[in-house]
Amino acid sequence: DSGRVFNFAAGPATLPASVLKQAQADLYNWRGCGMSLMEVSHRGKEFLSVIQNAESALRSLMRIPDEYAVLFLQGGATTQFSSAPLNLCNSNDSADYVVTGSWSDKAFKEGQKYCNAKVVWNGKAAKYTGLPSQGDLSLTPGAKFLHICANETIHGVEFKDYPTPQGETLLIADMSSNFCSKPVDVSKFSLIYAGAQKNIGPSGVTIVIVRKDLLGSAQPITPVMLDYKIHADNNSLFNTPPCFGIYICGLVFDDLLANGGLEAAEKRNIEKAKLLYDAIDGSNAFFKCPVDKAVRSLMNVPFTMATPELEAEFIKEAAGQGMVQLKGHRSVGGIRASIYNAMPKAGVEKLVALMKAFQARHT
Ligand code: PMP
Repeated sequence: DSGRVFNFAAGPATLPASVLKQAQADLYNWRGCGMSLMEVSHRGKEFLSVIQNAESALRSLMRIPDEYAVLFLQGGATTQFSSAPLNLCNSNDSADYVVTGSWSDKAFKEGQKYCNAKVVWNGKAAKYTGLPSQGDLSLTPGAKFLHICANETIHGVEFKDYPTPQGETLLIADMSSNFCSKPVDVSKFSLIYAGAQKNIGPSGVTIVIVRKDLLGSAQPITPVMLDYKIHADNNSLFNTPPCFGIYICGLVFDDLLANGGLEAAEKRNIEKAKLLYDAIDGSNAFFKCPVDKAVRSLMNVPFTMATPELEAEFIKEAAGQGMVQLKGHRSVGGIRASIYNAMPKAGVEKLVALMKAFQARHT
């Protein structure tokens, strides 16, 4: 397909070819309005229809109850590390963090600035290769919220069952790297946030799904741009939003709906992940995935080789065959294949074929 590669990047990441082609066709003159969507007013009827359609598509895709606001914001998921405590806590409230990898650790460190943040479980000693079960968590009675990272992009651990907070404690989740990859019972969460650049669009858009009854009590120091109520009251148009990115997200949501919704997406993702994990596990330890089998991510598959010197050669050979961005995160090394929604099964099959051929040549 005209020079396109299989892109295994962790984010920004691969997008559906049909979406890119649609965007290309729409780019110069969007639906005959004589302008591209990068040039129209964010308050004009063209863009209003785009953002409204994107929101309603996401609502049907995730079956988001009416009691939740859906916001299209900026600043990446990293900004939500601050926004979440600023909007949901007073500065002296306790908040519990489950630290399962680099991203939840960053969320905790930022949270410490705005509330009495505590780590209730830390996977660092085991190099973030596992997740806690409910009984492992030392939850703080009266904590305002319990924060989790649903899928750790770097370490490849993904919650299959979510922890249950106690009493009035709110459950909040960073879903950046598994957003829209499978059905989620939104009603279990008080706040879900996600950067767009893995499963649903370009970088620059951050999705926030938040219970409406929690809005309006942000800490007084909260910058106006981080106050969920301001954005909810203005339908994400308080200031100029990332218009073009929101448009792409809308196209991706429509594409997911047209392809069977999140149940079907999950099925495809399970199938792809199984191909890859089976190849790793069946390699006689030539390839190894350090993550506990029960919590292996469907999205990010980190693995190493028994002979680490061969890793760079493998990555280079893969690139030569049009499979790019397979290098593990600089903090953990090894190899990482991110296989988001838009990675075709053919991409994973091609990777597995190379793994087998490479192993045969080196054993
Ligand atoms: N959380 C997770 C799980 C991530 O994967 C990332 C980005 N890789 C972030 C947060 C930070 O996102 P951003 O770069 O959009 O701020």
